[in-house]
Amino acid sequence: MHNCTRCGGSLGDAFRYCPWCAAPQRLKLVEFFRARHREEPGKALRVSRYLHDDLDERHVRFSVWSATAENACVEAAVSLDDEEAERLGQFLLDSAPQRRHGLRELVDRVASIRF
Ligand SMILES: [Zn+2]
Repeated sequence: MHNCTRCGGSLGDAFRYCPWCAAPQRLKLVEFFRARHREEPGKALRVSRYLHDDLDERHVRFSVWSATAENACVEAAVSLDDEEAERLGQFLLDSAPQRRHGLRELVDRVASIRF
């Protein structure tokens, strides 16, 4: 049980919306990322960022989903604190290969030629 942050009404932790004032109790952002098709068909990574007024409640949850024509299920899940999630994001950005910008790359190469 906890109290609604908007109206203060008492409600169970499983409630997503306050039954007294309809305020959302769990705000989250969700994005799905498809697995590489050849190696892992039907699988996806779901990333959920839980936003909460209480900073200790904020986190990012990663879950591996497997889907068939009949159903979808979670194979594994792990939650990271915001600091670890930010570190993961920075790792992905820092380790990403440079994207090729065809025309921009050609212009830079020509501009670097010394005549
Ligand atoms: Zn409420």
